[in-house]
Amino acid sequence: MNVYDSERMADALAPIGYQIAEGPEAADLVILNTCHIREKASEKVYSELGRLRALKDRRRDAGRPLTLAVAGCVAQADGAELQNRAPFVDIVLGPQAYHRLPEYVARAERSTVGAPNRAGIGILDTDFPFESKFDYLPQPSQPSTVSAFLSVQEGCDKFCTFCVVPYTRGAEFSRPVSQIVDEARRRVDNGAREITLLGQNVNAYHGTASDGADANLASLIRALAEIEGLWRLRYTTSHPRDMHRDLIAAHGSCDKLMPFLHLPVQSGSDRVLASMNRRHTADDYKRIVGQLRRARADIALSSDFIVGYPGETEADFQATMDLVRAVGFSQAYSFKFSARPGTPAAVLPDQVPEKEKDERLQVLQALLTQQQGEANAAIVGRVTEVLLERPGRHDGQLTGRTVWNQAVQANLPLRFQGERAQLHIDACAANSLHASLPVKTDIKACA
Ligand code: SAH
Ligand code: SF4
Repeated sequence: MNVYDSERMADALAPIGYQIAEGPEAADLVILNTCHIREKASEKVYSELGRLRALKDRRRDAGRPLTLAVAGCVAQADGAELQNRAPFVDIVLGPQAYHRLPEYVARAERSTVGAPNRAGIGILDTDFPFESKFDYLPQPSQPSTVSAFLSVQEGCDKFCTFCVVPYTRGAEFSRPVSQIVDEARRRVDNGAREITLLGQNVNAYHGTASDGADANLASLIRALAEIEGLWRLRYTTSHPRDMHRDLIAAHGSCDKLMPFLHLPVQSGSDRVLASMNRRHTADDYKRIVGQLRRARADIALSSDFIVGYPGETEADFQATMDLVRAVGFSQAYSFKFSARPGTPAAVLPDQVPEKEKDERLQVLQALLTQQQGEANAAIVGRVTEVLLERPGRHDGQLTGRTVWNQAVQANLPLRFQGERAQLHIDACAANSLHASLPVKTDIKACA
């Protein structure tokens, strides 16, 4: 979502004359768009700010002032504390106030005319404004990436005990269908062929359709699937409790909806799930997976896991391992529990020692990596559709994705960027597949 938010901030600043610079050295304005979800992400911001402070000082001495802004969830959560720790920052801006950025940047520009100061100008906006930023942000105007993000829902009301999102992104909010369809059309006109719908809890989406009726994520997907030139739809991140029947059915009936789902489970232990306030059991999760597989037999699954949640015993951890074995994931993200200030889990007794967390993470990741390898190996030797998204790591290479969201490297010229091709999967490496044009078969446009 921060990638998407950064794009929207760039769109918002275009009318006042800003465009993306090569890097901080070349920029007049640097915005750090930040993440607060785990301590590591959060602390990175402060080390980065140390480097930017030196740059800001150098630029001041050279008579070309640099405006420094911190946006995102660290700005929201730390607010005035961030200003105290880094008083040289000019603008501290929470995620719901991005539409006000041009006004603040203009103010910063005015304040640096003449003799710029070492201190920042001290703008702080961590409001959850009544108006929606989406009503004020301009339409995306830049050429789109082949695979684009589009936020449809933000915030969360679920209050899992470990999570900062309800505090940093605020209450759940869904954009209206027509606004989303307009933005998606614009992105497709600008070159997008795949759109990933975003939300902290995207399958809780409950927007308003053009006729005023309620729309859920499945109806939104159906409306978007009508857009000509849009080939692929995905959505992330989902909560098991909001995996409703209509959405599961859409996986079977909507061709443009890709057979891949990121569905975080966090733990396989019912005791831990209850303590996390997830409000579902491991069996509920497996039941949903069964329904999804009945709707779309080849659906690939991905998930998030937390190890070392307070009070997690070896038996709880084994329950997570059992769930992973029972479900089988083609991708996954796993994390050590990180105590986040202000969340209930941070002050629970029985915090798990770091060493144990490390060991459990290693064991879990070994199994998840093995499953990912098996999922990749399963399509070696087959011909399958790949959307060629962007230049690859090496010259003459393009990077793309299979319908199951596996990364693919292919030796193909740049002109194939933005095409869907039926490619032969030649080999698999740890995290990606290598593919080539099938012998005697030309690239097929499957529009
Ligand atoms: N809405 C999604 C998750 C959004 S946060 C859901 O309900 O599943 C993204 C991921 O970050 C989470 O799935 C979780 O695995 C991880 N995460 C969030 N808070 C964390 C914490 N305090 N410590 C470790 N991992 C955390
Ligand atoms: Fe955080 Fe997801 Fe739980 Fe919401 S549902 S509180 S975003 S983990």
